[in-house]
Amino acid sequence: MEVGDRKVVSFEYTLKDKETGEILDRSAGQPLTFLTGVGEIIPGLESRMYGMKEGEKREIVVPAEEAYGLPDPNLIQKAPREYFEGIDLEVGLPLQAQTPEGQIINMVVVDFDENTVTVDLNHPLAGRDLVFEVEIVNIREATPDEILHGHAHRFGGHNY
Ligand code: ZN
Repeated sequence: MEVGDRKVVSFEYTLKDKETGEILDRSAGQPLTFLTGVGEIIPGLESRMYGMKEGEKREIVVPAEEAYGLPDPNLIQKAPREYFEGIDLEVGLPLQAQTPEGQIINMVVVDFDENTVTVDLNHPLAGRDLVFEVEIVNIREATPDEILHGHAHRFGGHNY
């Protein structure tokens, strides 16, 4: 069997920044499992895994545009300093905010003075070309339930 439509694929990976070689993430013995064709993983990685077989290893380069996108200058925003009361601000400090709908927004402080704080809401990996060292551990047909739900069920149980 090879990676294709409506398969559940488990794979080990090491994720590196293409430019610096810095290791950003790795599965380290806990393979990532996903259902193909539903956007569970970044599209530029999934499309390049199609055709791979169980046990196959490949180094896959995913350009920023097909990974986490390019940084959007509109996502660098200024806010009044009083919103950050009680926070020991420094450039590079990661912060989280919650919208009225309860959605968590991650941001990084990029600048601040007495009146204004500038934060960057872009994904930390935006603008970075990525290298995935991938090893396909397992491939199986998706079950009707998985196709209906639009996600893989891990460990034989249900995973929301
Ligand atoms: Zn489900």
